[in-house]
Amino acid sequence: MPILETKELSYVYGQGTPFEKTAVDHVSIAIDEGEFVGVIGHTGSGKSTLVQHLNGLIQPTSGTVLVDGRDIWAEPKKIRSVRFEVGLCFQYPEHQLFAETVYKDIAFGPQNMGLNEDEVNNRVKSAAQFVSLKPELLEKSPFDLSGGEKRRAAIAGVLAMEPKVLILDEPTAGLDPKGRDVILGQIREYQKERGSTVLLVSHSMEDVARVSSKVLVMNESKCAMYGTVDQVFTRASELAGMGLNIPQVTRIFLGLKARGYDVNTCVYTARQG
Ligand code: ADP
Repeated sequence: MPILETKELSYVYGQGTPFEKTAVDHVSIAIDEGEFVGVIGHTGSGKSTLVQHLNGLIQPTSGTVLVDGRDIWAEPKKIRSVRFEVGLCFQYPEHQLFAETVYKDIAFGPQNMGLNEDEVNNRVKSAAQFVSLKPELLEKSPFDLSGGEKRRAAIAGVLAMEPKVLILDEPTAGLDPKGRDVILGQIREYQKERGSTVLLVSHSMEDVARVSSKVLVMNESKCAMYGTVDQVFTRASELAGMGLNIPQVTRIFLGLKARGYDVNTCVYTARQG
């Protein structure tokens, strides 16, 4: 049984107004436990709207979201508990740091789960260690941290809840290449060690190809592809037709070809485009 599933999931912003926009259109996906899923698609294809449904932050206009086989909206009063099972880290999560100290910020989620003080303490320390935040930083104000440290502190706040499913929406946006590699490496380590299911939304297909076991492609509010890295990236011409970054797609495609994957020949059209 998949850990995460959507069935004919649709979402319309501003329904019934002149600004009506279908952001997610009949998306049905099934994600197995332990997968590392990269979510790609051009800007505005519906990635953020889709992932915000998976922990109940947005209620579907129609269709269902199932976590561990359970419809998360079957009992709307229990929706909060889904947020502990499916942790969502937004874009620019450091904008949500608010507590007096980094420690208190990371502790906020586990405290809300009703864990005792010792367990909260363990969770904070282990999450901080995962993202390589030095222990002395825990007593500082989050506003005194560097940009990269703030980002890592915000991610630690989600890791500390030890969610079964971890969703990160562009976790490396705005970081320099070194900061990007550090965070991606930490997420990969976390996933390997915990065996948790991870969804990573990224505009960098190279990052996605590097760390993911599966790739989900959103295009014009629909799920256009879901498969392994080679299954998706060997359909290079289709990806290029979806407005994705052609040089990136081509590099990944050629890398797969060099490793002996069976690829379609249409990539040359993509290369010329
Ligand atoms: P992505 O994450 O792939 O860039 P989004 O899910 O953010 O895509 O957006 C999908 C579509 O929904 C876009 O056309 C976007 O303009 C629209 N949209 C996103 N958020 C809102 C909102 N709060 N109100 C109205 N339209 C929105």
